Amino acid sequence: AETQLRQIQKMESLGQLAGGLAHDLNNMLAVIIGSLAVFKRRHDRGETGLARYIEAAEEAAGNAATVTQRMLAFSRQQSLAPRYLDVNRFVSSTSELLRHAMGGSVALETVLAGGLWPVFADSNQLENALLNLAINARDAMQDGGRLTIETSNAHLDDAYAAANPECRAGQYVLVAITDTGSGMKPDIMARAFDPFFTTKGVGKGTGLGLSQVYGFVKQSNGHIKIYSEIGQGTTMKVYLPRHIGAAASDQPARLAASLPMG
Ligand code: ADP
Repeated sequence: AETQLRQIQKMESLGQLAGGLAHDLNNMLAVIIGSLAVFKRRHDRGETGLARYIEAAEEAAGNAATVTQRMLAFSRQQSLAPRYLDVNRFVSSTSELLRHAMGGSVALETVLAGGLWPVFADSNQLENALLNLAINARDAMQDGGRLTIETSNAHLDDAYAAANPECRAGQYVLVAITDTGSGMKPDIMARAFDPFFTTKGVGKGTGLGLSQVYGFVKQSNGHIKIYSEIGQGTTMKVYLPRHIGAAASDQPARLAASLPMG
């Protein structure tokens, strides 16, 4: 459990690291843009001895390249490896980790449907998504509360797909994560998935948690939707496509390794 706790702290600090890298990158771009603008103006006036402006831009561009290389190394480490997954089993084995992430004042309840369809997803990314959602729920429940994770088979019909253009009709496994926290105003809800959007203040939020969750769901051909009520709480509904081809829900993961992707 202690290594898992360290893992959570690592993920939180990785989120902060990504935010910090983007900030550094932006500062370097400002130096490049500024240096080139000054160079152009003075050059147009026929001035000489302007090499130092070009050199400043060069140096900042070199630093920026180092930053993006670090970001690429980080993202490669998290490349997708989707495989057959029993979400119920996964939620059960992750719940201790989630409890640690949320601390003592939040209760965790899991409601797992029988006969749940299998999905095809990357388990590290799913774990990361659940952690991000649990940490957001914790932050929305400063005075304590309850987090409920409920699984079920779900059919999203044509009417739903028409009302939610990003979503394809079909069979999904629904993982609903509900907190009894502060809830979100509609304008916050509308921007919640935007990278770097946060209401948590400097040094606390990075605004990257939900955009990571959104990226994972999209990569998995899934769908995510927020339901929230101020003062009542929030439900994040994550839909992962049913994996056709693995009939029994207890099929071992090894078998799935030979199944085609997607
Ligand atoms: P961060 O957690 O770093 O702020 P996120 O992308 O995870 O970034 O979340 C963006 C914003 O969405 C949060 O700052 C918060 O305002 C809002 N939010 C996310 N989850 C919840 C929740 N469960 N309850 C209330 N607000 C939430």
